[in-house]
Amino acid sequence: MPELPEVETIVRRLAPRLRGRTVVRADVRRANVVRGTPQRFERAVTGARIESVSRRGKFLVFRLADGRVWWSHLRMTGQWRVERERGRTRPGPHGRGGRVRESRRMDVAHRPDDPYVRAVFELDDGSTLSFVDVRTLGEMEIVSARQWTRREAAMGLEPLSPEFTPQALAERLAASRRPVKEFLLDQTRIAGLGNIYAVEALWRAGISPRRRARSVGVRRAVRLHRAIVDVLRQAVEKAGTSLGETSQDYVDSEGVPGSFQEFLDVYDREGEPCRRCRTPIRRIVQGQRSTYYCPGCQR
Ligand SMILES: [Zn+2]
Repeated sequence: MPELPEVETIVRRLAPRLRGRTVVRADVRRANVVRGTPQRFERAVTGARIESVSRRGKFLVFRLADGRVWWSHLRMTGQWRVERERGRTRPGPHGRGGRVRESRRMDVAHRPDDPYVRAVFELDDGSTLSFVDVRTLGEMEIVSARQWTRREAAMGLEPLSPEFTPQALAERLAASRRPVKEFLLDQTRIAGLGNIYAVEALWRAGISPRRRARSVGVRRAVRLHRAIVDVLRQAVEKAGTSLGETSQDYVDSEGVPGSFQEFLDVYDREGEPCRRCRTPIRRIVQGQRSTYYCPGCQR
């Protein structure tokens, strides 16, 4: 499931391709990927000019020139893809050879007849933006600037922003009776963390995922804050995590997987020795999600 680093990677890839582009035709093929009816969404998006592409928590945010906001959420298996028009040879900044190689790779990764393409948007430069989703849990909507501001206000702290301080984290932890792992997944407290980076941050901070949030205390909260920021920054640098188990796995909008999976310390390592104290990593289920932790050095 894409978390902050994966969504951030997609945003960075999409931004230069979508900025300033206008949607000339829209085809919503699966009704439940849009809020409201497909017809209404197609009407709302056709003619819209994308001014900027950004991220809030795990949401992708396309700001439109008329002030409206086109948001999308990938949920489990959603993907955005951009393809240039087939056969088009536009020399890129690296010369013609590089561009041709790139488009061949994209042709393999992005089949236009893919049965999981749920919505297709043709852009004014001849490229195509598609929303692909195997499990069809992802969704999108176009809302007014005011509606978006209201929705954003209900979201938690952005962990890579200046507002996310050790003190802000400690205050929120102190107000929650839930296990700290479940606290970290609550998007109204901190926006963008999911299962993988929550368990990695807890391992780095040496905090048991079962500990009550309000018993974490200030000293551990400072360590947890550092761990969250570090693991997210490193994962963004490695373009996210792709576990590579199925075709539903995370890839960016160019079809390229991330590489942070090579740096995971506890996630998906049940029974393997802890890299700090050699105790076998344990897997438990919390809130219907797998938690991995070291019972030896996470307190
Ligand atoms: Zn350990």
